[in-house]
Amino acid sequence: MARIELKNLAHAYQPNPKDAADYALKPIDHVWQDGLAYALLGPSGCGKTTLLNIISGLLKPSQGQILFDGTDVTTRAPQERNIAQVFQFPVIYDTMSVYNNLAFPLRNRKVAETNIRSRVEEIAEMLDLSADLEKRAANLSADAKQKISLGRGLVRSDVAAILFDEPLTVIDPHLKLLLRRKLKQIHARFKLTMVYVTHDQLEALTFADRVVVMNDGQVLQIGTPQELFETPRHTFVGFFIGSPGMNFLACRVSRGKALVGSAQIALAADYGALEGDFELGIRPEFLKLHATQTLGSLPVKICENENLGSCKIITVQLADQQLKVRLGEEETPPTTAGFLEFPAAWIRLYAKGLLVEPEPRKQPTQEVPP
Ligand code: ADP
Ligand code: MG
Repeated sequence: MARIELKNLAHAYQPNPKDAADYALKPIDHVWQDGLAYALLGPSGCGKTTLLNIISGLLKPSQGQILFDGTDVTTRAPQERNIAQVFQFPVIYDTMSVYNNLAFPLRNRKVAETNIRSRVEEIAEMLDLSADLEKRAANLSADAKQKISLGRGLVRSDVAAILFDEPLTVIDPHLKLLLRRKLKQIHARFKLTMVYVTHDQLEALTFADRVVVMNDGQVLQIGTPQELFETPRHTFVGFFIGSPGMNFLACRVSRGKALVGSAQIALAADYGALEGDFELGIRPEFLKLHATQTLGSLPVKICENENLGSCKIITVQLADQQLKVRLGEEETPPTTAGFLEFPAAWIRLYAKGLLVEPEPRKQPTQEVPP
């Protein structure tokens, strides 16, 4: 397994890129640690496959380098990189049996037949393919074929990394959940470096140790699911992750308070020195909605109450801006008007889409007596 280093890596499909818009992948510098499971998450067309194919060697980047364990592999072909890749659609040999399909990557590496048998059986067991080993791949369902593809990706234990490009797209929802769990177990057991592309936040957040959030060719944040949830470094990350996503309110910050219209929201002490126009971000989960006024809560109009079974999403209006509040299924929200509390610890501020780091308040300098 390898540590993967991306050095000033970028890619444009057209030959003479002029500005940022010409790049399918804008410059990225990052080290991906050995043995961790990464998810590349972002909307369709944001550059996930481009980045994955550069790592695997299917695509040569227009600038920068990729290092596996310190060795520059930028110009090496996929076969020379010792990686396994699983694609969106099954890549299998239809005429071969399931067993031979799974054994193929091992035979290619001249692994002894007895070792092949035990490894193939182990992988088949994990993917519930044991009963199908002697069947011809051609006769199986789309789901089973994709499981074979996954198995072919997982069968070698000596690869530098396993790369998955939306591998569960063709799988039905119930099996998807099971396979996602299986992949996570396999990762936990073998500590493989895995990179998993998906546009589905749930898939990314449940599978990965680190999630790489991309939009428009750019990597916006790399973090643990908790970091992305609690402290998105970009408003896109806040909005894209969570259901519903983070609320953003245009506000004016002054003297430790954020002003939304005439409503005053108290900020954490760390933001005390800040002045100017910002976006205030807060997750629907962290807002509190009361029927009667509590200390510091602000009057809001209730616009909508959506009951999703396991939770309730309430749309409220503060000044001229709307926010979503997420309540537990057992909570009963007020019907037409209520009071909204903004816990200061969960308020984040953004300027031009980027997180503004709070600054610890400076200690007043001691006056020197004359
Ligand atoms: P994702 O996998 O996130 O959906 P891709 O990496 O496939 O995104 O695509 C990123 C951008 O690059 C898109 O705008 C897409 O249209 C463009 N693109 C992808 N492949 C090619 C190609 N072979 N030639 C030209 N443009 C491409
Ligand atoms: Mg793609």
